[in-house]
Amino acid sequence: MKLTNSLHQQLEEFIPLHAGKVGMYCCGPTVYDYATIGNFRTYVIADLALRTFQFQGLDVTYIMNLTDVGHLTGDNFGDSSTGEDRLEKAAVKEQKSAWDIAKFYTDAYIADYRALHLTEPKAWVKATDHISEQISLIQELEKRGFTYATADGIYFDTEKDSDYGELSTLDQVKAGSRVEMIEGKKNPRDFALWKFSPRDKQRDMEWISPWGKGFPGWHIECSAMAMKYLGPQFDVHFGGEDLRSTHHPNEIAQSESATGVKPFVKYWLHVAFLQVDGGKMGKSLGNAYTIQDIVARGIDPLALKLFYFGAHYRSKLNFTWEALQASANALEKLRGYSERLKTIQPHKPTKSAFIESFSQAMEDDLNSPQALAIMWQMLKSDISDEEKAYSLACFDSFLGLQLFTHTIDEEIPASIIELSNQRQQAKERKDYISADILRKQIEEAGFHVVDTIHGPEIQRS
Ligand code: AMP
Ligand code: ZN
Repeated sequence: MKLTNSLHQQLEEFIPLHAGKVGMYCCGPTVYDYATIGNFRTYVIADLALRTFQFQGLDVTYIMNLTDVGHLTGDNFGDSSTGEDRLEKAAVKEQKSAWDIAKFYTDAYIADYRALHLTEPKAWVKATDHISEQISLIQELEKRGFTYATADGIYFDTEKDSDYGELSTLDQVKAGSRVEMIEGKKNPRDFALWKFSPRDKQRDMEWISPWGKGFPGWHIECSAMAMKYLGPQFDVHFGGEDLRSTHHPNEIAQSESATGVKPFVKYWLHVAFLQVDGGKMGKSLGNAYTIQDIVARGIDPLALKLFYFGAHYRSKLNFTWEALQASANALEKLRGYSERLKTIQPHKPTKSAFIESFSQAMEDDLNSPQALAIMWQMLKSDISDEEKAYSLACFDSFLGLQLFTHTIDEEIPASIIELSNQRQQAKERKDYISADILRKQIEEAGFHVVDTIHGPEIQRS
């Protein structure tokens, strides 16, 4: 499989660090508002990569963070560590606490994520659940001489890191020097690892640290959580292209300076931005559409995936309601095929040119537009219906459009639901031995339980 690695700005053969396994991280949303269809372009592409790895028999450990503290309004544009905390700002606007804002939009995000049938990460990790890990990482950087204090917080000293700025182009590094300077900051590109709480205002979210009361900077959370769950070095890191000039170079700087292990991540992948009606998408422009906006127009959110797949992930993509409607029509057409093919026993061909070229397209830097063209050719071809049924199911294992859900996923039997309920009760009374036995019984029956933020979910194994 080949992927365009932003680290070297070239197409590279994907070779996992550990044979048969892939460690993958994607920068998740800041939960101060609903996630937009721009955010979801990145998550859908990350999911496509994950499914393509799985098709090759690789075992993927996928981690996604939820930013619920420390992402400041200025953070995305090179003026790292300036502005207001997005969650605290939303809390004032909605007259709730920052904790309530985080909970509400985390739940909304996960519901939207599931509406798109994206593969659940092994863990959803929240910044506020990993404060001690972030403090330890900052202490390690301090011990190694990469930090300094200002009246405003503890900063990473980019001058001390001779490799600083990987992923950024030179122009973007220069752009950093035009931005607002925080007093005491030695270099415009230095960024906060820990920010002190303001003296005149009580924050909803703040913690005691060795340096004083405050909260972690935005970048440190991804380094701390990625390394906790995936180790000091892992294979793939996803994010939108906006993160390439500041957030990701900062993640690299913090992680590699703290561990001395290089590279922190082997393949960096960046998804180009989604635009709307030919221009920028933004909350202030009123065009930062959400999954709920799509549902409200009577369009199946899965049509959005087909719309995204119509363009290569490294090209800008322009959203219009007409284009989404065209994808919804295409999805209906696909469902027409799958409805008919459901009644046919799928037959695995010994050799299939369509499956081969479809998977080759996906393995060629996730060339989804080409793969979609092959899918339509296959459906219109004169191969047998048995082979079509097999091929379409195979393609859907990449696309995740649920084309054959009803035949594949029958109802979960009541006996399994009962075992899962008993396991949950055992866990609540901290009887982990019984909980373990019940889990094994569920697995022996061909199911497994995934513990999600909303409680246990039963899936067929
Ligand atoms: P944020 O909530 O701003 O922290 O962004 C969460 C993720 O969505 C990051 O990986 C961003 O790079 C990505 N993202 C944000 N806006 C867009 C967009 N318009 N198109 C594609 N990805 C985006
Ligand atoms: Zn991140």
